Amino acid sequence: MHSRNPYQTPPDFTRLADGFPDLKPFLKKTSSGVGIDFHDEAAQRCLTQALLFCDFGLSLILPPDRLCPPVPNRLNYILWIEDIQKACAKVRPIRSVIRGVDIGTGASAIYPLLGCRTNPTWKFWATEIDQKSAECALKNIQSNNLSDRIKIVQVAPDDKIFPTAIFENEQGIDFTMCNPPFYGSREEVLNSAEAKELGPSGACTGAETEMITTGGEVAFVKRMLEESLQLRDHCQWYTSMLGKMSSLTYIVQHLKFAKIENYAVTEFIQGKTRRWAVAWSYGDVHLPDSLARIPNRTLQNIMPPKNTLRQPYTQFQTSQDAEQRLLKVLMSIDGVSVTHEAEDRGNILVKAIGDTWSRAARRRKLKAVDSATDYGPGQVTLVSRVQCTQNTSATRGGSESRAVTIEFDWVQGRDRGLFESFVAHVSRKLGTLAMDPDVDMR
Ligand code: SAH
Repeated sequence: MHSRNPYQTPPDFTRLADGFPDLKPFLKKTSSGVGIDFHDEAAQRCLTQALLFCDFGLSLILPPDRLCPPVPNRLNYILWIEDIQKACAKVRPIRSVIRGVDIGTGASAIYPLLGCRTNPTWKFWATEIDQKSAECALKNIQSNNLSDRIKIVQVAPDDKIFPTAIFENEQGIDFTMCNPPFYGSREEVLNSAEAKELGPSGACTGAETEMITTGGEVAFVKRMLEESLQLRDHCQWYTSMLGKMSSLTYIVQHLKFAKIENYAVTEFIQGKTRRWAVAWSYGDVHLPDSLARIPNRTLQNIMPPKNTLRQPYTQFQTSQDAEQRLLKVLMSIDGVSVTHEAEDRGNILVKAIGDTWSRAARRRKLKAVDSATDYGPGQVTLVSRVQCTQNTSATRGGSESRAVTIEFDWVQGRDRGLFESFVAHVSRKLGTLAMDPDVDMR
């Protein structure tokens, strides 16, 4: 579960029922105290309403014949999107509004409602094909006074998934999100792992339109991918949840066929249920590995290339020591500017106008009369975030362990080779400096 998700420990059901008395009749004594029967759909629905009311100040209608969204899982996805937005905010001008699109918002409109409650600058367009769900979503938005920030767009099954009118506006979209219908047929629903685990009552918590789409989730997300190939930068990050691990493999393959290297994969774990999500972008902003890659061993071959490179140093004893030397190295590179991040002074943001450090570049500079013409008009082509971390354990197994790790994140740029060559150059110079602190850096 996401580290900021408050539901890492089970909720206090007695407190919830005090704040939302409709929950009281569903409370049961369990082996661990007080809980509800998770096989009882009405109890689950009431729990979702209670959590949204007590923890987010949201009052929701959840029709009995439509999907009941579990709050912890939906919050995981919102928190990941929030992290992606924060990562992008490092290198773009401050925005007063962040624009999101929720594809298939359902009767609850759960993502836009949660997203707007937890992020004051977010606004949403929310699409839906099912008329009954769209009407209910509208009521939920109105009753929570969010009509000025969330707009419902009813679409037809054959329409584009990403409506042109929304995407081709001049302000652009910051992210899309989607919890697609997972299955391709009724048989697939009945054979799904959840159906087997929960039995017939637990499996049917959604209407057919919510659970089934032609070709299942792979076809649905593939359609989004194909449409995104036309829309490209009209949206910064396209994302979707996936219900099956095998679907993730297919989608990543399709991303690779489409030559999209800037993508991210994550996993949402809630109790026994696992979900995955994928994000892709045509922009030049990259996400740190902590957001873009997961340690799940079976999925390593579909992870995106690493955007975080770590270099251990035994020579430095403290992170301050390492940072001082690092700054000396960075300042010695032509065409590089260095700032400390406002929200975390320990993070250094490095901006470079291009390769000024390789041997070839230095040779070019020697020949050139004016280095500015040599390195281009001076626009930034690489942004990297650098951080020195002191390791806590000094010795392990009797041998000396690495004392400081320097971490480089590729934050912005089109040329991965440039980022890698920058890291290699700084690491080499740091190695030299650690041996002889007075060495001339040029
Ligand atoms: N977002 C909600 C509902 C997810 S169920 C939640 O997370 O709980 C999937 C939803 O997608 C359903 O409401 C279904 O009606 C809708 N849907 C299916 N095809 C669609 C399409 N082409 N465009 C928009 N919504 C669609």
